[in-house]
Amino acid sequence: MAAVPTVGVLALQGDVREHRRVLESCGAATAVVRRPEELERVQALVIPGGESTTMWRLARTFDLLEPLRKRVEQGMPAYGSCAGMIMLADRILDGAAGQETIGGIDMVVRRNAFGRQVDSFESDVEMGGLDRPFHAVFIRAPWVESVGAGADALGRAASGDSAGRIVAVRQGNLLATSFHPELTGDPRIHAYFLEMVKEAS
Ligand code: GLN
Repeated sequence: MAAVPTVGVLALQGDVREHRRVLESCGAATAVVRRPEELERVQALVIPGGESTTMWRLARTFDLLEPLRKRVEQGMPAYGSCAGMIMLADRILDGAAGQETIGGIDMVVRRNAFGRQVDSFESDVEMGGLDRPFHAVFIRAPWVESVGAGADALGRAASGDSAGRIVAVRQGNLLATSFHPELTGDPRIHAYFLEMVKEAS
């Protein structure tokens, strides 16, 4: 393992630049990942928000889906936000026909779950591992219907109609949030992930 881990950001689609900016502000080295060779060169991966159906199709087109599954199975730390959370879920609801994920987190995630009520909104999230609630932005976000025995429901929406919904999950080296911490100027989720990366290396 490299002395300083390089954190890849999956750059098939979505808000890649924003994640790189926050990771780098926390002192991480980053690289974009679009091809299998680029995936081989990173020690951890962030999967951004965007559109999971497009990400899935592009991952298939670029021959990345199997390499991604393999790295996650081998224990590579990965963090998915929003569409990235969907990509890390073992099971999804309201997916497109045939929609596949990378998987790795034993959870059921419902696509566009909040979006059925309102397209985007903000809510505080009570989050294990963080000193105080995280003010989160949700954009056509999924929520977590249930987590299996191996996964930890780390964060829940703390206000509004959706209070109590699970919106952050951790399983081993994998982390997923329904919301977009790269958009709010609060680096604590990225810093938390970088601690996970450090512990794994
Ligand atoms: N609704 C999107 C999807 O299904 C996720 C939205 C987002 O990442 N902001 O992938």
